[in-house]
Formats: sequence, C-alpha cells, structure tokens
Amino acid sequence: MLIVQKFGGSSVADAAKIERVANIIADTYRAGNEVVVVLSAQGDTTDDLIEKAHEINPAPSKRELDVLLSVGEQISVSLMAMQLEKMHLPAVSLTGWQVGLRTNSAYGAARIKSVSTERIRRELDKNRIVLVAGFQGVNKFDDVTTLGRGGSDTTAVAIAAVLNADKCQIYTDVDGIYTADPRKVAAAKKLDAITYDEMLELASLGSQVLHNRSVEMAKRYSVDLEVLSSYERKPGTKVKEVVKPVERMIISGVAKDANIARITVVGVPDAPGVAFKVFSVLGKAGINVDIILQSAGMGGTNDISFTVASADAETAKSILAEYAQSIGFDHVTVDTNVAKVSIVNAGMMNGPGTAVKMFEALSTAHINIQMISSSEIKLSVVISAQEADRAVSAIHDKFFEA
Ligand code: ASP
Ligand code: MG
Repeated sequence: MLIVQKFGGSSVADAAKIERVANIIADTYRAGNEVVVVLSAQGDTTDDLIEKAHEINPAPSKRELDVLLSVGEQISVSLMAMQLEKMHLPAVSLTGWQVGLRTNSAYGAARIKSVSTERIRRELDKNRIVLVAGFQGVNKFDDVTTLGRGGSDTTAVAIAAVLNADKCQIYTDVDGIYTADPRKVAAAKKLDAITYDEMLELASLGSQVLHNRSVEMAKRYSVDLEVLSSYERKPGTKVKEVVKPVERMIISGVAKDANIARITVVGVPDAPGVAFKVFSVLGKAGINVDIILQSAGMGGTNDISFTVASADAETAKSILAEYAQSIGFDHVTVDTNVAKVSIVNAGMMNGPGTAVKMFEALSTAHINIQMISSSEIKLSVVISAQEADRAVSAIHDKFFEA
C-alpha cells in the first residue's frame, strides 16, 4: 500500500517525540508499505518565528514572512530524516518546492494549484521513506508561499490525492474526532467515522482538528482520511463520503462558534427589494453573512438580523450605515456578545425529533434562543456568548443521556 502519514507540530515537538513518531513510520515501512510523511513545524515554532519577525519589523511583507515560516517545517523533516538514518532506514527530506507543490501567490494563505508526483515517485522507487515539509509551496514566480495556519493537513491530503494513496493518516495529539470538545465536555464520545460534509461543518463551527481546506480536498478527490493519535496505537476516526447508519451516533457533534456577531438593521421598509439591497451592499464588500432572520417591526417596517464573523462586524455596520437613507431604514446595531451552537448530523432529516430534543435541552437549561437556522445536516442556534459552553453541555447530555 501507499500510505501518506502526517504528524502535527506537537507530535514532533522534541527529540523523544521525534523518536516515537519515527517508530510509527518505521513500522509502517517495515510492513512493506510505501510511505510518504508530511510534517508540521515543531511545537510553537511557527508562532516563535512570527514573533521573531515582529521584533525586526511589526509589518513585514508577506513574501518575506513566508520565507521565514517555511523554515519551521524544513527543520522537522530534516531532523526526522536524521532520526530514521540512525535507525538504518533509508529516508529523504524534501521541501515543498522540491516536490513541485505549486500554489497561487496569496502569501500566507496560498492555495495549492498542482503537485508533481515525479520527484516523490522517484524516491519511493528507490525504496526510500519520503519526508515532505508541510504548509509550504512555490508560486509562479518561484517564490516561497505558505498555505495558512494548520496548512500541513492540506499538504498531506494533496499529496495523497495526486499519488492516489491508499490511505492518508493524520496523526495528532487527540485520538480522533469527538462529539464535542473533550476538554470541555467530559461525556464527549469518539466517533468511529464521520462524513466529509459533517467534518466541514464541525471545522467551520470551530472544531480545530483538521484544516478546513484539507477536508474539502479529501472530499473532492475521495481521499481515504483518518485522524488518529500519535501516542496510542489504536484506530482513530475515519472521514469519508458516507457513514452507514450502524456506524453512526445519534448526532455527530455539538460545536460552538464564539467568533460571530449579530447585526440588526432596524426599521427597514416592508417593501420588495429591501433584503436585496442590504445584502448586496455587504456582498460587494466581501462580507459573508450566515444566519438571517426577518421579523415584523412596528408600523409597516421590519427588522433584519443576521450574523457575520466578529472580525467583519464593525465594517458591516459602517458600510450599512452609509446606506441608511437610500435603503430607507432607521439604524444598525451590533451585538458581539453572541455565539452559535450547532448540532451536526448528516442523517438529521430523518424526522423532527432531533430539533425538538435540542430545543428541549436549551429550555431545561433556561437558555434563550435568539435565532435558529437549519440545513440538511445541521441545526444552529444563536444564543448569548456567556451561555455557549453550558448550552453545548446541555445539548450533548440530552442526546447522549449523561
Ligand atoms: N506550522 C504551521 C502552523 O503552525 C502549519 C501546520 O502546523 O500545519 O500553522
Ligand atoms: Mg493542525
């Protein structure tokens, strides 16, 4: 089999951990597999490099920052190669550009355009373990780029996709994907499997296990993905297209996203075209809107509320305020003291019971719901930020009968 294994920064943070990871790689290789390994920078290296940059220049150019940040992953792959050499295993470390990982030119958040298989293939054919520096590539000017924080996952999936690997294993310091954040919800359960779509929802809802783009790419190229622990040898969580009912939990996860704000446009005329005007103004400014609610106000006017990422809240407010007169509304308010709590389940449309259960949990916990939104695979509520953790626990307990 051809197996791509990715190890995160905490898994290679020091010499002892590098040795532990080398043993996993060695076992995979000795079992007769072709092995490509993608590594992240050790521990807090990336943060430390950013700090170093800022000591010199608080606003370095993105190009130079990427040259600096790409160093972290190169340290990891070269050290791992040395460890494997010591174990008498043939290994070779390669940078993003050596493996022909081409990206666009968005420094700091570059998107992968193509990966060449030629160099990796050649090394595998020499029976070598190939160690690839994650998170980095090269653009059309042959300049170094990085893929955005957490981007090594995406490097691994891209390589698995182009090599048509049998498996892509993402090793981390948790042993899989849980039904809730296990650090906050003691009864959180590990999932055996989750769909790509559910994983994307959970990632965008603030569960940080996998880089979002890696899941999108895994879905697009049907990569056989698994998240597992680098400390314990046991199965992790499979991420795949379809999860059979027997493999399913009642819900796949409860997640919270505290980085949202609620904006209310107060007193919009009750007339055709108003929502179009409000949201096209925001769309032109590149602001993504999530949950939308329109309620009837007094005297023939309505209020339109919606959520945006916290970072966009002030911009959204000031842009809208400029249009108060032409659209004909009264004023705009912003509430950043809100959070979105969601349950995710690709089998959710199987009946109304799921929604009732979630609302009952919130009712029993006396948590007020400000907004509700549902899609095929998730149900979200917007509530006060202070109550978010309590809401996650209450909902989780309700579904898993703690
Ligand atoms: N080292 C990079 C980061 O800290 C990339 C990664 O770890 O995936 O964000
Ligand atoms: Mg990560």
